[in-house]
Amino acid sequence: MIDNIISGSQIIAEVKSSGKHLQSAKMQLAFYLYYYFKKEKNTILKGKLRIPLEKKTLFVDLTEDLEREVEKRIAMVENILSLSNPPKPVRIQYCKRCAYKEICWV
Ligand code: SF4
Repeated sequence: MIDNIISGSQIIAEVKSSGKHLQSAKMQLAFYLYYYFKKEKNTILKGKLRIPLEKKTLFVDLTEDLEREVEKRIAMVENILSLSNPPKPVRIQYCKRCAYKEICWV
């Protein structure tokens, strides 16, 4: 869920508690930018990734490369959704702290 849309400035802001998983945070924000670009009549927004505890702010623009990357990942998700059975989960290092661990590992 989007953390904040800064009205009047065309900025979607995403706030993270740490910069540990920066790439996934950037892709999450890229998806929001992509979604609004496609759904809201090509409205171009800027993305702002804020990590207040680390005093960091990064800006994300929806470039053509990033747009293609988002579309590639959406296709991967659609492919999984089209399977008659979901793939078996694979335990990875993030599982211990993941908010979904009860769904994957019960
Ligand atoms: S617990 Fe989280 S990180 Fe691990 S497989 Fe499930 S969703 Fe992925």
